[in-house]
Amino acid sequence: MTQLQSYVAGQWTNGSGDAKTLHDPATEAVLGSVNQGGVDFDAALLHARNHGAPALASLGFRGRAEILKKLATKLHECRDELIEISGRNGGNTRGDAKFDLDGMTGTLSYYASLGAQMPTGNMLVDGEGVQLGRTPRFWGQHILSPRRGVALHINAFNFPGWGMGEKMACALLAGVPVIEKPGTASALLAFRIAQIVVESGFLPAGSFQFMAGSVSGLLDRLGAMDGVAFTGSAATGAIIRGNKHLIQNSVRVTIEADSINSAVLGPDVDLGGDTFAQFVTNIATDMTQKAGQKCTAVRRIFVPVELMAEAEAAILERLKATKIGNPLDNDVRMGPIASHEALTSVRAGMQHLLGAAELICGGIGKIAERGYFVAPTLLRAKDAHAEVLHTLEVFGPCATVIPYSGKAPDAVSLVNRGGGGLVASIYSDDREFLDSTVLGIAPWHGRVWLGSEKTQGQALGPGAVLPHTIHGGPGRAGGGEELGGLRGLAFYLQRTAVQGDRTLVGRSFGSGDAN
Ligand code: NAP
Repeated sequence: MTQLQSYVAGQWTNGSGDAKTLHDPATEAVLGSVNQGGVDFDAALLHARNHGAPALASLGFRGRAEILKKLATKLHECRDELIEISGRNGGNTRGDAKFDLDGMTGTLSYYASLGAQMPTGNMLVDGEGVQLGRTPRFWGQHILSPRRGVALHINAFNFPGWGMGEKMACALLAGVPVIEKPGTASALLAFRIAQIVVESGFLPAGSFQFMAGSVSGLLDRLGAMDGVAFTGSAATGAIIRGNKHLIQNSVRVTIEADSINSAVLGPDVDLGGDTFAQFVTNIATDMTQKAGQKCTAVRRIFVPVELMAEAEAAILERLKATKIGNPLDNDVRMGPIASHEALTSVRAGMQHLLGAAELICGGIGKIAERGYFVAPTLLRAKDAHAEVLHTLEVFGPCATVIPYSGKAPDAVSLVNRGGGGLVASIYSDDREFLDSTVLGIAPWHGRVWLGSEKTQGQALGPGAVLPHTIHGGPGRAGGGEELGGLRGLAFYLQRTAVQGDRTLVGRSFGSGDAN
């Protein structure tokens, strides 16, 4: 059994107080434990501010980018070991584990390549300068510089690798030291990744710290230059957003929360064509990959009434072919839910949905003697407008097929009942339908993914988050925005308008090279 440790102020520590246990969700065996308290938060903040921040600043964007590149390579070299841990502690199949781990290293590499093209110093010029006086002599220029604080990253259990990697990539490239807190249920993987990062010695002292236990008390110590980037449920997100200390001290907070993601099948789609094939493949992948425990997984599938029978049959066929079992077996395509607590919540959620929907396949019944397994569950809405279908996230392999008229305004109104989402996908080759639907749902979504005849086989599905484009969404999705190329650095940088003599503003601040 592994005792998870925290890495604080340059030392590994066991912590103290109440312990939470970590399990293998396929066998229910106990794998490790984490003490929830005993971490010296003040020491962590001092170490980050006094050592991490100046050391990162001395490297400039390009020096930090080189470190990201080396970290990505080092972590990729440990891929096989990390896949095993991900399978044992997270219930991830080999494919699921690669999705998380390659997402982590891919994102670190992507930001390393962006950083290689940035200025050598710590300042970015933001947009064109502007004349402010009667003549061009009095000039204004926006600049961006690293905030002189600490980034606290609170991650969800479902992506221990990618979640930590994507947040770290942006903060470190921007020049801000990080404190990483993993979701406890699957923290063994994040712990091993943290060990590799520390052992590599690539990052300067104080720029990377790891807290395995609770960080609630740390929130109350953060200041105006610090930031909290949270990923998790809307309920926990609301607690953090409502923290009085964070509000009073104007601590930056960004929330990536949950989302009742949608897929919309257009009325024009030919059942024998590539667009329909793509729709069915993506739905089945989203429902079964990581046993549906993806913030971007589809929960609502909108299908024109006259295509309901064919769509249901095609998805059902794919779900039935999914082999469920020990996630580390090569032929297994879906593993268990990550923890007993999460399984209980999935079953309760499905039960709720069943009040407004009929079962097509799956259900809450036990499907294995041991482990937190649940069958892929496809539901059919009894009433397309039932509130629960649009408001309850069941964080597992469960989605509901919901009929609509096949008209764009109806699709838009139903999709937007989710109250703000991370991603919605639309499958159609009809430009008029696409124009209306995209424009209708765009304000309520961080990402809209279009499937059509020409994209079949060309793209990862809507469940994949790519660092080039933004991740996040309005409303219940948390209102956050991460990644999106250089946009992902904005949270860690301060935008300042510098006003003055054009020759001074241009010379001192416009070069993009000041330390
Ligand atoms: P969660 O229960 O909300 O926990 C998220 C994180 O917050 C964990 O690290 C948790 O630590 C920590 N936490 C809990 N209470 C806290 C508090 N009072 N103060 C500070 N931190 C606290 O979510 P989860 O069960 O791990 O993850 C599943 C949820 O995350 C789903 O709803 C999913 O949709 C969402 N999610 C969203 C995204 C996205 O990018 N939008 C990505 C992945 C997942 P412990 O684990 O120790 O409790």
